[in-house]
Amino acid sequence: MTITDDSLAALDAADPLAAFRDRFRLPSDVVYLVGNSLGALPEAARTRVTEVVDEEWGDGLVGSWNTAGWFDKPRTAGELVAPLIGAAPGQVVVCDTTSLNLYKVLFAALALRPGRGVVVAEAHAFPTDLYMIEGALGTQEGKQLRLIGRDAPDLADALDSDVAVVVLSHVDYRTSALADLAEATRQAQGCGALVVWDLCHSVGALPVELDAAGADFAVGCTYKYLNGGPGSPAFVYVARRHQDTARQPLSGWHGHRAPFAFTVGYEPADGIDRFRTSTPQILSYAPLEASLRLWQDVDLGQVRSKSLALTGLFMDLVESRLGDAGVEVVTPRDERRGSHVALRHEHSYGIVRALADRGVLGDFRAPDTMRFGFAPLYLRHADVGNAVDAMEEAIAARAWERPEYANRPTVT
Ligand SMILES: *Cc1c(COP(=O)(O)O)cnc(C)c1O
Repeated sequence: MTITDDSLAALDAADPLAAFRDRFRLPSDVVYLVGNSLGALPEAARTRVTEVVDEEWGDGLVGSWNTAGWFDKPRTAGELVAPLIGAAPGQVVVCDTTSLNLYKVLFAALALRPGRGVVVAEAHAFPTDLYMIEGALGTQEGKQLRLIGRDAPDLADALDSDVAVVVLSHVDYRTSALADLAEATRQAQGCGALVVWDLCHSVGALPVELDAAGADFAVGCTYKYLNGGPGSPAFVYVARRHQDTARQPLSGWHGHRAPFAFTVGYEPADGIDRFRTSTPQILSYAPLEASLRLWQDVDLGQVRSKSLALTGLFMDLVESRLGDAGVEVVTPRDERRGSHVALRHEHSYGIVRALADRGVLGDFRAPDTMRFGFAPLYLRHADVGNAVDAMEEAIAARAWERPEYANRPTVT
């Protein structure tokens, strides 16, 4: 497949999301294909951080807990995340991390299904999810983990009347395969189990419809496609129907019914507030808030169309120009995919390093996968063309042979 620079420019000119790129700070010599790992910096986030530091902390001091709404940040940020995941108000708080929130909801879900001893998860899930499940199950008698892809071939085979909770990723962090959220929820609930969705790689990449699917619980991070900044707090969704009975194990004072009564004995707050734990990391909410306000102007249908266009174009170009050079597309070619593309090559690690030296940033996931994220808010069709040109050149030059690529830093 050949495509000219002019035709890519024409696609960019017709892109209804094109103007969003100007709202981000991006180095001009970089093609940033790692927005699925750490989103780019919205200009508004820089302003907001300065405001929070100078005015709210510097001038407002401790009074800002009330006057600047600090105490309520988990709720106010939660209400901004809610429309992005198809949740009516009052079901989302933003706090802690995805790993911690997964622990909380898993524990809560297990207690809602007494007498059932099995948690189903995916063998290929993002490892922290499995590690947290292991940790939670380690605190309980007689519970076991059943892995799809190891103990059972698929979800249907993993389900029976012993299953209490099913933990699933909406988009696979490696391959980008997209699960059918509504159908999998229906299947799991059909056998009496509760479902926890991990939305880390779908929120901000495509519309998510938790309420419509009748989902039970969900967690996800805000520093990937949502552009909340490194380590920005994560979100947790609990369907309203579970909120009065669900109890989470990290019973800190901010989830208490009356945090400032300082009484002995934990009593959970009503509603979603009981999924809070403790003092919110106020400085981390600052860039996130600005990012979430930017998302209020975004049409998620347009995000999805552009995501499919960019990832589709990338896969077409890679297959036609680099298929013979041993690059294999791992991501599904139909629409059951998220917004990143996974490729495989014998020298994936060296190619990712060589691309970085050419200004094209992607990442590597052991053992042999290259990942390229296409964040629709700030990437252009022209970036896709440039990335494939750089990869073609790096592979033709056998750039992976360079000795400096033999050393791997901690974060790949
Ligand atoms: C990024 C990611 C996480 C990250 O968890 P943290 O607690 O933020 O470190 C968890 N699960 C999935 C599927 C992810 O993609």
